[in-house]
Amino acid sequence: MTTLNELPCEIKLEIAANLDSTADFIALSQTCSELRSIKHYKSIRRKVFENETKHRLTPELIALWNVRHFKSQHETLQRTNQGLGTSRVEFQAQTDEQIISNLSDIAGLRRVIRWFTVQFFEYNLRERPGEDPPTATEISRIDNAFCALWFWMETPYDLLRFTPQSSDTPRQLDNLVMGLTCSTSDAAVRLSVYSFLRSQLAAMKQVYQSTNFSPEAVGYLAQVSPCITRYLNIGVPNMLLMKLGLDGVKKLLTDLEKQHPCQLAPVLAHPTTEERYPYDEEQLITYFTSMINSSRDSSTTTALGRRPLWKNGHNPSWSQAGIDPKIVFWDDARLRRWGYNYNVNVGNRGMIGVLWGAGEKRQHCLKCLPEWQCSYQM
Ligand SMILES: [Zn+2]
Repeated sequence: MTTLNELPCEIKLEIAANLDSTADFIALSQTCSELRSIKHYKSIRRKVFENETKHRLTPELIALWNVRHFKSQHETLQRTNQGLGTSRVEFQAQTDEQIISNLSDIAGLRRVIRWFTVQFFEYNLRERPGEDPPTATEISRIDNAFCALWFWMETPYDLLRFTPQSSDTPRQLDNLVMGLTCSTSDAAVRLSVYSFLRSQLAAMKQVYQSTNFSPEAVGYLAQVSPCITRYLNIGVPNMLLMKLGLDGVKKLLTDLEKQHPCQLAPVLAHPTTEERYPYDEEQLITYFTSMINSSRDSSTTTALGRRPLWKNGHNPSWSQAGIDPKIVFWDDARLRRWGYNYNVNVGNRGMIGVLWGAGEKRQHCLKCLPEWQCSYQM
């Protein structure tokens, strides 16, 4: 019998283009020099990623595609209908056929998500050289978390005329929002991913401070913000996420590497100056953590308690020293290798859960005066 290695390259090319797994494609491409040539590699890899997308249409991806589609319909209407009154597009979830026919666009969204997933793992493995690369389950966990966050970044409250606090979500959105409900464990993964995004954006603070904050702007902030430091560290990153979406944030981060910080200027108005959600700073600060919290299925809390997240002691509490809820995105096998243990108190009784904390400590700062050395005065 002929092995894969012995097949002529033309046949390998044919096989490669029909694969629906990027991992399989990479394995195959390593067996054939012609496949490794840039000309074939790029276009076939793109095709495989698209095939793969068809099999990975998660609820998160479908929800994201739907709100993006709705927004672009609305923008088209605005452009073609300028000054002709207030016609609106009603939100309507896309059918399966419509979704499948837009596969290459959806693959484009996945490509952006995957860029962030790669950054996320590089960041989290930076102090562990030689560690095994992320597994497929770890990768898809992070992909899904980025995708859910992206959905919340893109939700057009002004167009749909509701706010996340209101109990009456528009009925058409119900299915999408339900699809984002997740286990406590997945909610903790979303929290890790959100913290990562925020830290990437907060790291640019010096850049936007120097380009955007005149003495007058800081004076205005001091009047409206209960804590300027918190506003800069949490509020501004949240605002960038909500205004730019994940694709916009990717552009921002890559532009910054190329030293083009000027793109930032228009997005930094304090929420109280705009007539759109979020209406005030508190809503802006807590937006993502409260969405993560509200999407969490509380009945799965105990399952999280069964993960090997404990390095010492067995007290099932987020507040216990030595436990970091933000590591739940790793597989159990890897965590065990790093010395984490299962919590012996859970066992078969399964009654002991994990206290959930959204990671935001209560803030007590009042306007940060003097000298702006505030660290939220925690
Ligand atoms: Zn402060």
